[in-house]
Amino acid sequence: MPLYIVRNDITTMKVDAIVNAANESLLGGGGVDGAIHRAAGPKLLEECRTLGGCRTGQAKLTRGYRLPAKYVIHTVGPVWRGGSHGEQELLTGAYRSSLKLALAHGCETVAFPLISSGVYGYPKDQALKVAVDAIGDFLLKYDMTVYLVIFHRAAYTIGSKFFADIAAYIDDNYVPECTDVQKEQNRYAAAFETAATEPVEWELRAPAPCAAVPDSLEESLGQLDESFSQMLLRKIDEAGITHAQCYKKANIDRKLFSEIRSNVHYKPSKPTAVAFAVALELSLEEAGELLEKAGFTFSHTSKFDIIVEYFIAHGNYNIFEINEALFAFDQSLLGG
Ligand code: ADP
Repeated sequence: MPLYIVRNDITTMKVDAIVNAANESLLGGGGVDGAIHRAAGPKLLEECRTLGGCRTGQAKLTRGYRLPAKYVIHTVGPVWRGGSHGEQELLTGAYRSSLKLALAHGCETVAFPLISSGVYGYPKDQALKVAVDAIGDFLLKYDMTVYLVIFHRAAYTIGSKFFADIAAYIDDNYVPECTDVQKEQNRYAAAFETAATEPVEWELRAPAPCAAVPDSLEESLGQLDESFSQMLLRKIDEAGITHAQCYKKANIDRKLFSEIRSNVHYKPSKPTAVAFAVALELSLEEAGELLEKAGFTFSHTSKFDIIVEYFIAHGNYNIFEINEALFAFDQSLLGG
């Protein structure tokens, strides 16, 4: 099931559980912890007092009280001390313990803040990568819908090398939608000048063989090309992976996948079609073919397409990383 990156206030999320970035005492603090306690009301603190604190990298669960969420999972992320004090393992542990606890309580939807990335000082782009990797790993094995809630857009400062590379790639490849009319006209005029000065060579060609014209509309319809759904199922077979492995890797919900599988003429949205191309680790050319079946093409007038192309061209098929980048550039996310 999918991971969604959303911009929101976590206290308003209508999910089975929201995760709190707490401190080891579990007795309340600032940041997201303060916001959750304010929204849940004083009974949350009362229950927290009975828990005896929580170690860094672990998680504990309480009810949600006045929150729209049924539960609050309190986890403690590491304080950033330069990166060589086991911060990454501890942060991964905080996500894993929270997800396990959510699973044990039958939660189907869980929302996380970007743990440790506030007062605890974990660099936001690295905190995001750890979050996405830890949640992504978990979702490959378990069915759950997870929201990663980004509060401030600044979490996505395009400062890191990774984002700078993508930004440069977009700059190099982006063709603005409205083409330069004057340039277009010049090109057109130049084409005519060449045509006028160069000798024209006529070539006799045999007429193209005419396809047999079907007798009936029914027969015509019977000659439809392979559909998106058929191509997808064929490619999954060829890749030697299971349907579940494919839709999970594509960050696609099981229900949507069943719909595509059972409806041979299903026309997916572009992000869904691209998500499958990524899950199947198709080359750019093959991805283009799959997209075409859904009525789309890759175009350099779209940042979305250029970003996806960047990842495919670099052999990076991690859908969650692609989504991080798409989110940073304000584009639709893949799957989900
Ligand atoms: P930590 O101590 O683990 O760093 P903080 O609460 O200081 O925890 O910050 C964790 C992240 O939560 C930060 O990125 C911060 O911007 C974000 N945050 C703060 N309030 C909210 C909220 N209401 N909803 C979602 N995220 C929030």
